[in-house]
Amino acid sequence: MAQPKPRLVYVAHSQRLTPNMHRLVLAGPELADYPNDIASGYIKLMFNEAGQPIRSLNAKAEGTKISLRTYTIRDYDPKVPSITVDFAMHGEGQAEGIASRWARTCQVGDEIVIGGPGPANIVDLEADWFFFVGDMTSLPAISCNLEQLPPDAQGHAVIEVTDVKDIQPLDVPTGISIDWVVNATPGHQSELVERTKEKTWLEGVPQIWVACEFSNMRELRKHFKSFGATKQNLYISSYWKAGLVEEAHKEVKRADAEAA
Ligand SMILES: Cc1cc2nc3c(=O)[nH]c(=O)nc-3n(C[C@H](O)[C@H](O)[C@H](O)COP(=O)(O)OP(=O)(O)OC[C@H]3O[C@@H](n4cnc5c(N)ncnc54)[C@H](O)[C@@H]3O)c2cc1C
Repeated sequence: MAQPKPRLVYVAHSQRLTPNMHRLVLAGPELADYPNDIASGYIKLMFNEAGQPIRSLNAKAEGTKISLRTYTIRDYDPKVPSITVDFAMHGEGQAEGIASRWARTCQVGDEIVIGGPGPANIVDLEADWFFFVGDMTSLPAISCNLEQLPPDAQGHAVIEVTDVKDIQPLDVPTGISIDWVVNATPGHQSELVERTKEKTWLEGVPQIWVACEFSNMRELRKHFKSFGATKQNLYISSYWKAGLVEEAHKEVKRADAEAA
């Protein structure tokens, strides 16, 4: 399948949403042909070997080695056109990655080339009930999903954040319980799995949507499979792995998927 064309966008707005979540609005005429319902899909931000944003649409042809970083489209505004992207901050200095550093330090007007979009990632809204599990990297996609649920939806969402002040107001039907798990050291000693296991299994067939750190993902996959979840009703993905940059995480993820 042909790769979507790279597009040049610029930073239209930069804002610290909560202590550990940074929001950028990326705009540019090249976003005009995004599908209107692309929120929850993903983009690939492009950086060079020095960790600088790529600004040339021909970078690959020019021989530049490109590092990709995957982020969710939290919102798409076709009128501008622009996309909103929320970046989980993970420390400054060594623990920080090229994407989180760029999001923290970029200025309005700065340019970057992005790949994508990858398709929207919304659960089957006809399901009997819903179960969402994630951390700050998947909070944008979970928020997109929760906003689309029917008003009588039932189920649970269990979401890990780094600080109690990272809890965001979410637009959810009253039948969806939200549990916030606070973990100051994401990727280590998480209660996300235990708190998920405590939730009551409801009647009928759920749609289950899980994305988080790799080790937590593996535990949660075991848990949900023990309740009979299948490919039809379980989306489960690791969005990052403690100690690995995205390229290395991708390799581990591929090997794990082949073995699963
Ligand atoms: C489909 C998809 C959608 C995603 N959407 C989002 C999104 O909307 N927002 C978002 O913030 N992330 C999202 N992610 C996760 C994001 O791509 C990774 O966290 C990525 O590694 C961040 O790149 P980086 O350059 O900041 O860090 P990297 O250079 O990849 O890693 C540097 C170091 O930071 C660590 N690290 C990476 N992420 C985190 C983290 N969140 N917490 C603690 N340590 C971390 C790594 O383990 C490594 O040690 C998504 C991933 C996928 C697959």
